Amino acid sequence: MSKNRGVIYLGPQHVEVQDIPDPKLEAPDGRRIEHAAILKIVATNICGSDQHMVRGRTTAPAGMVLGHEITGEVLEIGRDVEMVAKGDLVSVPFNVACGRCRTCRHGDTGVCLTVNPGRAGGAYGYVDMGGWIGGQAGYVMVPYADFNLMKFPDKDRAMAKIRDVTMLTDIFPTGFHGAVTAKVGVGSTVYVAGAGPVGLAAAASSRLLGAAVTMIGDFNPQRLAHAKAMGFEPIDLSQHDRLGEMIAEIVGVPEVDSAIDAVGFEARGHAGGEQPAVVLNQMMEITRAAGDIGIPGLYVTADPGAVDEAAKQGSLSLRFGQGWAKSHTLHTGQTPVLKYNRMLMQAILFDRCNIAEVVNAQVISLEDAPKAYADFDRGAASKYVIDPHGMIAS
Ligand code: ZN
Ligand code: ZN
Repeated sequence: MSKNRGVIYLGPQHVEVQDIPDPKLEAPDGRRIEHAAILKIVATNICGSDQHMVRGRTTAPAGMVLGHEITGEVLEIGRDVEMVAKGDLVSVPFNVACGRCRTCRHGDTGVCLTVNPGRAGGAYGYVDMGGWIGGQAGYVMVPYADFNLMKFPDKDRAMAKIRDVTMLTDIFPTGFHGAVTAKVGVGSTVYVAGAGPVGLAAAASSRLLGAAVTMIGDFNPQRLAHAKAMGFEPIDLSQHDRLGEMIAEIVGVPEVDSAIDAVGFEARGHAGGEQPAVVLNQMMEITRAAGDIGIPGLYVTADPGAVDEAAKQGSLSLRFGQGWAKSHTLHTGQTPVLKYNRMLMQAILFDRCNIAEVVNAQVISLEDAPKAYADFDRGAASKYVIDPHGMIAS
């Protein structure tokens, strides 16, 4: 009998915790693989990108086990695994990557060419990402374990900061990638769109990289209050739609050096209602000439719930001429977590960044996951960390 349970997507706004099969050293196509490891999961977070699926805004099939933000203990390894051993505490990048293909060899692990027959890039528990089983569960299998897993050098020290280091699987590197690709550096003025967990992680990353001021725009008063308490400059987008004016009130000019989109395709405009291109257009408006725009927010190639036919295919009404005229650089795509997770682990372990506090990490049990999905969807200013085995000290 299986001892595993996991969070299953059953349809729009419907997730349940159910018994699921124990993981095996097996690829999604059923082949036995010896480069994989099986983990007992210590922490696994609910992500804003999971919400896109749970809201029915993707083509995710019912019955999928969710979860791509996994930290765990190695329980079993295949014959070919040499660099991790049973009992190691490891962080799993949300990207599934082979470490051998052309893009992996350049460090672009977000677009591995071999782990997903449908397109470049794989992930656990995510639609169109190769069918790798998700990790909002008790146990999970990780392929190419030597390449993908980051072992914590000191297990006790990492466990003492588990609420922080669990963010290394996705949102901290994703926020950091947003800031790095927006070329945030010492003295930068930064605007982050979206005060959810990735937006807050991007703001924390901007501070770590030396930004002079980091502004965060959102409509949600609870999230804005939390951003302010964390030392960032909140911008209340419900006031009016002249973002440049609100930025000028803070930095004296209606422009910033760097802008980061942590909202993605379910963006809303001031007038209410969805406008999938509104954030991207605002960023081109408020980023200075020759400035840089990082876009870690997710955009899709198919959106069954989109407001119009074009957006259903992922085509947006971008005012691209504005960005062209200002010589903007736009940087898109899934974050290659492996580029950043080790440096950010060190930043956490040596107290350079209180990421758990910044994103307001809340530890919950696996059985409470459906409630957390609902609360997060209502805009709770929290990042939910699932503790499936009760291993995180309260
Ligand atoms: Zn995530
Ligand atoms: Zn690869």
